[in-house]
Amino acid sequence: MAKEATPGPAASQLTVQQAREMLRAADLRSTASRLAVLQHLAQFDKPLSHAEVADALVPQGFDKSTLYRCLVELADANLLSRLDAGDHAWRFELRRGDEHEAGAQHPHFMCLDCGKVTCLPEVEVKIVPSGKKTLALGDVTEIFLKGHCTECK
Ligand SMILES: [Zn+2]
Ligand SMILES: [Zn+2]
Repeated sequence: MAKEATPGPAASQLTVQQAREMLRAADLRSTASRLAVLQHLAQFDKPLSHAEVADALVPQGFDKSTLYRCLVELADANLLSRLDAGDHAWRFELRRGDEHEAGAQHPHFMCLDCGKVTCLPEVEVKIVPSGKKTLALGDVTEIFLKGHCTECK
């Protein structure tokens, strides 16, 4: 890793105590890896892949496959959002307090050149049917906008 990812302005710190409470509320035991994963994701205002989490936490002594299991368990417990950008790499992000309802998740933007995924918490995407036919949509769980980020443009 050449340069360290810098947390964005909306990033926040999660104390061990807060992480423990989140786990307790979700009926999960507090393990060192789960706490580390939660605290790490809390520093970023964008979703991270397993590889990115592993890059940061394996040097601190955590096991790569344990970290993956933690991410899946935390996502299953709804503490994390699991995003599929279509590039076969799940990305995970901490669910913030105001987004507990499944439908309230914000859209994301993915750069087709560098693969970077950005959160768009201030953007609302509405799907408006153009014809008279009812939309044959099931549950929309993720909204991904794709294009070229400012660095790649
Ligand atoms: Zn890009
Ligand atoms: Zn996001």
